[in-house]
Amino acid sequence: MKQLTYHIGLCVRAFPSDRQKQIIRKNAGVNRFVYNRLVGVNREMYELSKTAQYSPTDRDRLLYLKSAYGTTTDMRNAIPFLNDPDIDCFSIANAKQDYQKAWSQFKKVPSTGFPAFKRRSNSFSYGTNCNYPSDVLNNPDTIGLYEGAVRFLDHNHIHLPILGRIRIKGSKKTVASLLDRTDFTRIGTVRVTIDECGNCFLSIALASDTPFHIPYPKTGKAVGMDMNLNNFLTDSDGTVIDTPKYLKKSEKKLKKAQRKLSRMQECAKKDNRKMRESKNYQKQRQKLAEIHKHVANQRKDFIRRTADREVKNHDFLFAEDLKVRNLMKNHRVAKAIADSGWRMFLTQLEWCATKHGRICILVNPKNTTQTCSSCGYVCTGDDHIALGVEEWTCPECGTHHIRDLNAAINIKNTGLLYLKESGIPISLN
Ligand SMILES: [Zn+2]
Repeated sequence: MKQLTYHIGLCVRAFPSDRQKQIIRKNAGVNRFVYNRLVGVNREMYELSKTAQYSPTDRDRLLYLKSAYGTTTDMRNAIPFLNDPDIDCFSIANAKQDYQKAWSQFKKVPSTGFPAFKRRSNSFSYGTNCNYPSDVLNNPDTIGLYEGAVRFLDHNHIHLPILGRIRIKGSKKTVASLLDRTDFTRIGTVRVTIDECGNCFLSIALASDTPFHIPYPKTGKAVGMDMNLNNFLTDSDGTVIDTPKYLKKSEKKLKKAQRKLSRMQECAKKDNRKMRESKNYQKQRQKLAEIHKHVANQRKDFIRRTADREVKNHDFLFAEDLKVRNLMKNHRVAKAIADSGWRMFLTQLEWCATKHGRICILVNPKNTTQTCSSCGYVCTGDDHIALGVEEWTCPECGTHHIRDLNAAINIKNTGLLYLKESGIPISLN
């Protein structure tokens, strides 16, 4: 996979049968089990390594653990139920790999903490891999979409290891364009997820030496974008996009559903029933999860459409590199910021820009609001522009500014200056 130049991820909805759902549940359970077992074993090994020098029993235990959990095969020999025919061996291997990633991350950045145990949650997933016969990978004329352990059967069906044939839906255009390709395209890891609402999704990693996306035609335009709480964003062309406030719109519904759920939880507790066995509680939990998912999907859709429109219309895109985590510390605006999805927009913008051959740069947000875009005067002290002031006049040159538009123009200018300094050729109309 790594040797190929272009990589994309494809997420599609899948419709497994009851039997297939059972297999997914089993594999996800194994995935979590293996990960947690490795967390436990590694902690024990760490403690044993301190005393192994002096105590022969500790040394023997350490040697046993090393041999029993070294490879996937060792693990299968040590834990017999991992040999169940429904269990995908890649699920075990992926859990092991996930643990190793977490461990090396901890080694690199100790503040991330020792890898923790994974809790049982209402959504579960496992990873599987597309294994290819060696003649497919060595033959340049094949297209790896049809030959591997994970393969497309047609536009609406995919084959997965152990699970077999599954119907898929969504990303119609991408799937169609993929299946029309004639160049070698390889499938990598596939993550099978069942979310809180009980819906199944497949995230498929794909790689190829030919690009997956066609670059947009050049427009010769640059744009600066200012994000704030009054509206979602103002760009330097003067376009103002309002914040949709999806969470606020669904808040009433959410509160009602949440209240109902807490009531059911109390009732179940009073009767000494387990939450997982309380059917009405589970039904209500799913309803609540569906409302949350709806809000999240609305936001995702809005952000994707907005980012795509900006990328389509401009060659160079500049935005503020906002430290959202710091801004969220102000609890009065935290909810509004989280609802607007700024960070998600920036990530989407950067990704969408690279995908279509555009240049997107996040600039330092310092003084973007306080600087006059005509003369460069920075308002400080008594001239400082307070929050909530929407229009102002520059004390130096007398230009009347609309706050957000001025900031957007400043962002654009900073971005263009940065490009000039780094020697990237700019051709604007
Ligand atoms: Zn001025």
